[in-house]
Amino acid sequence: MNATFRHDLLQLNELLQQTASYAGSFLSRINELKVNLPVPSFPATVLPEKGMGAEAALEHFDNRFGDYLTGNAGPRYFGFVTGGVTPAALTGDWLAATFDMNPADKSAVSFHIETETIDLLKQLFGLPDEMLGSFVSGATMSNFTGLATARQWLGRQQGVDVDIAGASALKDVKVLAATPHSSIAKALSMLGLGRNALVKLPTLPGREAVDVSALQAWINAHPGEPFIYVASAGTVNTVDFDDLAAIAALKKEHNFWLHVDAAFGGFAAASPRYKHLLRGWEAADSVTIDAHKWLNVPYDAAMIFTRHPLLQLAVFQNAGAAYLGDPAENFNYINYAPENSRRLRSLPAWFSLKAYGAEGYRDMVEQNIRLAQLLGERIQKSERFQLLAPVRLCVVCFTLNHEPRMLAEHVQLFLQKLNKRGLVYVTPTQYQGVSAIRAALVNWRTTEQDIDKVMEELETVAADIAHLSAIIENN
Ligand SMILES: *Cc1c(COP(=O)(O)O)cnc(C)c1O
Repeated sequence: MNATFRHDLLQLNELLQQTASYAGSFLSRINELKVNLPVPSFPATVLPEKGMGAEAALEHFDNRFGDYLTGNAGPRYFGFVTGGVTPAALTGDWLAATFDMNPADKSAVSFHIETETIDLLKQLFGLPDEMLGSFVSGATMSNFTGLATARQWLGRQQGVDVDIAGASALKDVKVLAATPHSSIAKALSMLGLGRNALVKLPTLPGREAVDVSALQAWINAHPGEPFIYVASAGTVNTVDFDDLAAIAALKKEHNFWLHVDAAFGGFAAASPRYKHLLRGWEAADSVTIDAHKWLNVPYDAAMIFTRHPLLQLAVFQNAGAAYLGDPAENFNYINYAPENSRRLRSLPAWFSLKAYGAEGYRDMVEQNIRLAQLLGERIQKSERFQLLAPVRLCVVCFTLNHEPRMLAEHVQLFLQKLNKRGLVYVTPTQYQGVSAIRAALVNWRTTEQDIDKVMEELETVAADIAHLSAIIENN
């Protein structure tokens, strides 16, 4: 063994203590850490011929990057839909790396941990027992996996085995959706179906949810033609939900695949007050749910649930590897999802679900929604802002109270200034043709005091912008 390895092996306990104390110090500051920091141009780095050992590497890391670490996992990072990390999830994540087990093989405990975690999640979400679930790296890969399985199904409808003949053997692929997440088009590109396969259906007036009568009309115009429908269960701008019960009813009469993208909206199912939003989703052929969003486990984890293990097997089987045996007989996760080897991605979720239970998740989800609604109310009352959509769940979609002329420029300037100050992070969007701002609240740490701080900050920066623009107008 190389001398530096040997040294670190002998020092392992001390190293773990040092790492824990470094992590602890970071987390003790997370409420105050800036959520956004500019980085300098780091000087080029060289691969040392002789390593410095882990303790020195930690010190070197801290010297080089420590001052630029941001509070993305903190209570006021409202960009994208970024959850934090619960204490128990962190325990699970550390241990996942510690054990370094690949949860593929049925004979290993790591396999049982993933299966058990999937069972816990089905209970949290009220998803049917018969669905097969597995962990993937994020909702994009989950959408990809669901749509790859849908593609195989579509092939069967046309008498084609897509896994063998390829996507080019398919005729007329139509993937319908009203307000699909950007990752749906990305998945269609990766699947060789092409972004053009996406057919956008109209939404209900003033909404992001599909107009189900438009779906019905499309079906009437294409009698008997099998297709894929991608339902939104939580759009990113206004967390709008397609009427899944109405779509499920259509599915009884017509031949289509229903994929539900419930990346974060799925967590409405954890609360009796909001679970009606998902009514009908149990009829889906495939369901995407992210874990690194509202489950508050670290990146990178999401789940795919499907009702069609055999179609999944056709797509993803790692066939021909003799050492794995017959995939139809020996269940092994590698035959049902894109990756072969994986980390024990379920462990953070297992820990967090056991630690906080249904009640903990219900409370967190309801608390985040309450805080988002509070922020929405304050924005609505403010002279400087305009709320663009009702706060349905955990996202507040708003803009500056400004005449349409120059609104886009002002929003851009506002966001630049706000995010640079680093107290809160929000992201730009377009909502119904208007330059908008969105704040997503899905972190277990966020409290009402954070909303107070954020509102004050929003007002300060908006006043600043108004002041600047008055100077410009007067010159
Ligand atoms: C975040 C999100 C995705 C993509 O998730 P990643 O985890 O970033 O891959 C897909 N769909 C919806 C609705 C999302 O909110």
